[in-house]
Amino acid sequence: MDGSFASPERPGGVCAFAPNRSAALERCDRVDPKRYAATRNHLQGAVSGLSPYITHGLITIPEVLDRIASRHSLGWQDKFVFELGWREYFHHAWRHLAEAIWQPARRLSAPASAYRPELPEDVTRATTGVPAVDRSILQLYRTGYLHNHQRMWLASYLVHLRKIDWRAGARWMYAHLFDGDLASNTLSWQWVAGSWTGKPYLFNAENVAKYAPRGWPGARNAGTAIDRRYDELERIAASTFDVGPERRPIAPSPCEEPELFTLPPPEAPLRTADEADLAHARWVIHPWSMFVPALNPEEAVGVIVTDFHAAHPWSAARWNWVLSALSPVTRGVLVGSREALVAVLAPRAARLGGVETLNPFYRDVIASLGQRLAPPRAFPDPERLHRSFSSFWHAISKGPFPI
Ligand SMILES: Cc1cc2nc3c(=O)[nH]c(=O)nc-3n(C[C@H](O)[C@H](O)[C@H](O)COP(=O)(O)OP(=O)(O)OC[C@H]3O[C@@H](n4cnc5c(N)ncnc54)[C@H](O)[C@@H]3O)c2cc1C
Repeated sequence: MDGSFASPERPGGVCAFAPNRSAALERCDRVDPKRYAATRNHLQGAVSGLSPYITHGLITIPEVLDRIASRHSLGWQDKFVFELGWREYFHHAWRHLAEAIWQPARRLSAPASAYRPELPEDVTRATTGVPAVDRSILQLYRTGYLHNHQRMWLASYLVHLRKIDWRAGARWMYAHLFDGDLASNTLSWQWVAGSWTGKPYLFNAENVAKYAPRGWPGARNAGTAIDRRYDELERIAASTFDVGPERRPIAPSPCEEPELFTLPPPEAPLRTADEADLAHARWVIHPWSMFVPALNPEEAVGVIVTDFHAAHPWSAARWNWVLSALSPVTRGVLVGSREALVAVLAPRAARLGGVETLNPFYRDVIASLGQRLAPPRAFPDPERLHRSFSSFWHAISKGPFPI
């Protein structure tokens, strides 16, 4: 793994994801599909760290594929291509389901009443006493990034062992991730909870030891709630039992969950757009499409649609990251409700364009503009909803590889 972004013990607050497109291109050029396939499940594997850039549209999936294919041969069978396919699959499902991504697609393993609607303090303060869990929470707060395995471990522990409603877990993780993407995050939580496929994802201490680097303080979990056989974990997952925090005082120093904001925090780098900026604008940039080829930043204004963030708040670190990326590519940013923004943009809609998005409220603001581009996809988006990734992949990979 590229140690510059994923070392779990980096000192607090260091942001290793430079908030610009050049950093995305550099990360892309470092991807080695063979090394990726051999190591991606390990916390120190050669993963790309591209997710914040892909989520926020600083680079698109077709561009990632093109750029990597210029150095390596790529095809349907490549693990890296397959993982990009997961992202497009989740967006395919989101297009069909919209807000229904928050409804469990199937029954959960325990009765619905077993799951509590809020995270307990030992989880938000990283003092569960399970080292793999606490270290991952600290990393999430400090860096805004987690390896896929850590996300699966956290989600599985919270839902199956601590009986936390997967939706509460999904909202919490989304708020702190720099790459928080409503489709990938919400549906991955459903996947771990077992309501997407019908099979809960479970892990144990042995699994952590296999994929974590030896020196990582979260690697050894002997004697904790996750130090169990899979048949025992299955029984707990299907019951109403919450294993609770560990009794032994082995927690690392407790931390406070970083505050969440429904509006840009006061210190965030934000220049508000004014009438003159609007008069020059021909394009509206939003946080999920921050790079538009051949667009002069002098002709772009940014938007922050407050109704969205009221429903999905972000940590100050995520706000700062997004606004640091947004400010240089726009003349200024408009912050307002969906209604207020549509009212400001509507009289100028004929000469304004934007990239469509499925993110609620942003979707409506972009829909009010005269020119709209579909967000670029690498793979086809089938008309019928595929309820499983394998069915989706089977259907699309019958066609020619897109590059
Ligand atoms: C509980 C949970 C929550 C998640 N939340 C998010 C989220 O909010 N945003 C997000 O982008 N991903 C999410 N993922 C998927 C995955 O963990 C991350 O995309 C990946 O870890 C990002 O790191 P990377 O860029 O180094 O990935 P790499 O392994 O280098 O993969 C390259 C790209 O492929 C895509 N990708 C890889 N794996 C997946 C996957 N399983 N599902 C969807 N796309 C994938 C991402 O765009 C990623 O940047 C979540 C997974 C779980 C289990």
